[in-house]
Amino acid sequence: MAIQLGKIAGIPVAVDYSLLVIFALIAWSVGYVLMPTQYPGLAGWTYLAIGVLAAFLLFASILVHELAHSVVARSNGLKIRKITLYLLGGVSEIEGEPTSPSVELKVSAAGPLASVALTAGFALLWLLSAYLRAPALVSAPLEYTGVVNGAVAAFNLLPAFPMDGGRILRAIVWRRKGDLLASTRTAAAVGRVFAYLIMLGGMFLVVFVDVVLGVWFFIIGWFVSSGAQVALTQTALSESLRGTRVRDIMTTKLDSVTPEMTLEEVSQRVLILKHNGFPVISEDKLAGCVTMHDLRRVKRESWPQVKVAEVMTERASLLTVGESDPASKVVGLMNANRVGRIFVVSGDGNTLAGMVTRSDVIKLVESREGGARSYLSQKISFTAERGMDFVIEQPVDPGLVWWIETPAGARLLAETTDATGDGHEVRKFTFQAVESGRLAIRLLEGPRGAGGPVVRTVAYTVDVQ
Ligand SMILES: [Zn+2]
Repeated sequence: MAIQLGKIAGIPVAVDYSLLVIFALIAWSVGYVLMPTQYPGLAGWTYLAIGVLAAFLLFASILVHELAHSVVARSNGLKIRKITLYLLGGVSEIEGEPTSPSVELKVSAAGPLASVALTAGFALLWLLSAYLRAPALVSAPLEYTGVVNGAVAAFNLLPAFPMDGGRILRAIVWRRKGDLLASTRTAAAVGRVFAYLIMLGGMFLVVFVDVVLGVWFFIIGWFVSSGAQVALTQTALSESLRGTRVRDIMTTKLDSVTPEMTLEEVSQRVLILKHNGFPVISEDKLAGCVTMHDLRRVKRESWPQVKVAEVMTERASLLTVGESDPASKVVGLMNANRVGRIFVVSGDGNTLAGMVTRSDVIKLVESREGGARSYLSQKISFTAERGMDFVIEQPVDPGLVWWIETPAGARLLAETTDATGDGHEVRKFTFQAVESGRLAIRLLEGPRGAGGPVVRTVAYTVDVQ
């Protein structure tokens, strides 16, 4: 959850609610813990004002740090979605992967350089305030912000990918090896080591120095280690999609419905075709999309009377891509909007040419990127009706064994294997949803089968209504 602040230099800036908590925490700890020891004997309200000022200057500084990243990225042709300030500082959402090692280097270094410049600026102002014998209310926040900006620069320069220093490391390795994915792997591995060191440092601080500071280090270490994993997966995805267009991966065989159909008719189709949603086509044009979710907002008794047109998502609200768009755009849209399928339109933008689902993308990545499979654990969720059969399909490779963990609420009815003709096989697991509620089904892959080492996990969440 975030509050939109507006735009700075054309870049939308938002503040996450978690920041409000941390703002109060910083204002309090600076005003009532740190300052009374450094500047004893001031009035209570002065401490409070110093704390609030210091917290405000700190977050303004973090915003400047992120703006530096974003502005340099934009001047190198990258698109900036937005900047969000949150619990651990800021994050600039830059679309896509860096285009070259030198761009990566410039964009990553811009933030820490801005923080160094801020340290120098605040140090000068602090010296000036001391020279002018300004009151603590002025000099204390300047001193604090200067020191903290120095710490921010130093901390961000740790080679802990995906932090700035780790990105700089990646750019250097990338320039030497010429391979973005390989250098991301290197940077992520170094990042993980640093993440563990940060967490270890956190434990040391908890025991010997200060619990709050230690927990803080621990959280940061944890974020770095999980961030390294996410960034690595993203890079693997966009690298293996490089040069691929939407038309290369889209499904063109689509089942559709019309706006005049009743919800009852749609629900019959859901049962037969086992899709969760359908494009709505009117006079050969894409008119919208209707899903089981839309149906469920209407009382079951009314399904025979209510028409698709009354409940569907209109064309204007649908996310679409063109056939010649890069496939990575689809991944970006799916991730940013948390949707599992995107319609592909051609010509005037209203003719449905196909659809890309998350599994289309994952299948392609898996077939291309043999090495990515070990860390590509998938999460897939969908809904099913109680008593209904549903099928989980999994492309498998000869030589590895898949097995399945079935929860009590589902019954495995059948397991079949189809050859795909390209050396792969598709295993189909047919389940019956016995109970309503949330089912967690896990498909596991490993060299030896159940009980042995797991190479890959596909976790399905099925909401049975
Ligand atoms: Zn940064």
